[in-house]
Amino acid sequence: MSERERVVVAIGGNSLITDPDNVSIEAQFDAARETDHHIGELVEQGLDVTVVHGNGPQVGFILLRSELSRHRLHEIPLDVCVADTQGAIGYILQQNLVDDLRARGLERGVVSVVTQVEVDRDDPAFAAPSKPIGSFMDADEAARRRDEEGWDVAEDANRGWRRVVASPRPRRIVEVDAIRHLVEGGFVVISVGGGGIPVVADERGELTGVAAVIDKDHAAAMLARDIGATRLIISTSVEQVALHFGTDRQEWVDHLTLSDAKAYLAEGHHFKAGSMAPKIEAVIDFLEAGGEEAIITTPQQLAAAVAGRRGTRITR
Ligand code: ADP
Ligand code: MG
Repeated sequence: MSERERVVVAIGGNSLITDPDNVSIEAQFDAARETDHHIGELVEQGLDVTVVHGNGPQVGFILLRSELSRHRLHEIPLDVCVADTQGAIGYILQQNLVDDLRARGLERGVVSVVTQVEVDRDDPAFAAPSKPIGSFMDADEAARRRDEEGWDVAEDANRGWRRVVASPRPRRIVEVDAIRHLVEGGFVVISVGGGGIPVVADERGELTGVAAVIDKDHAAAMLARDIGATRLIISTSVEQVALHFGTDRQEWVDHLTLSDAKAYLAEGHHFKAGSMAPKIEAVIDFLEAGGEEAIITTPQQLAAAVAGRRGTRITR
């Protein structure tokens, strides 16, 4: 068993798509190569790294492709979209990371795990679906798909209508024992992609996929707790967390304590819903479950942040 410090690195959308006007597979490989380079730095520094990734845009592409070919092929349900992205994104990340580690003289195995995450059927999120997915529709099509397919739909900031799904809390990472064994065996594991494939259990424990989206930061915090990681590192598009974000009082912060983070989150206006707020909630969950430190920064600053020189650190 390895004696290295164990960390979970959750990488956001900017690690795979840097330019929304160029989303080719080649561009995704280029972006992944850069992030993998920074993850490689952490491995070289002696950390046991486990990677969680987002998948929002990639799920959107699969849904659009599925819509466009509806007259020829079956549509793809959301749980299967998540599974598809875990495979493709995992492949892109693991191929580049193995190369990066080899170039550093580190022969570490890198492996992606298709991961289901159980959610609670009674999670209140199912009564109030709010997470937009897929393409925009006009009001007529939205009404039709609501009636014919049972979709929940909502108007999105005057840009049109979209399907909305629930974003329930993760309850259990189904493959967590396998992930733990791989981590203990020295593998760099990529898992719980996109927050995991959302599944619910029936009375007998049999699992079925559901049309929902699990927040990847919450799921990463759960994984970090489950595998006994000391640090949860969230890589995103901002180098630091700000207070009074987006206002003329905006202030970037180097360090927060757990109680600071809780107090600022409760104030409600510092961290935006759907972007920074879930990261801060995830950090709070992780630290309250016994984690030592959380870091929020960009892929470029990962190594400097782990060394305490960049990013925002949140400590117990
Ligand atoms: P990811 O794909 O990494 O999860 P998100 O877009 O969900 O990325 O979250 C990162 C974004 O959160 C930043 O680009 C920033 O615009 C936004 N954000 C909201 N509130 C804050 C805050 N208080 N401090 C810093 N960034 C914030
Ligand atoms: Mg996000």
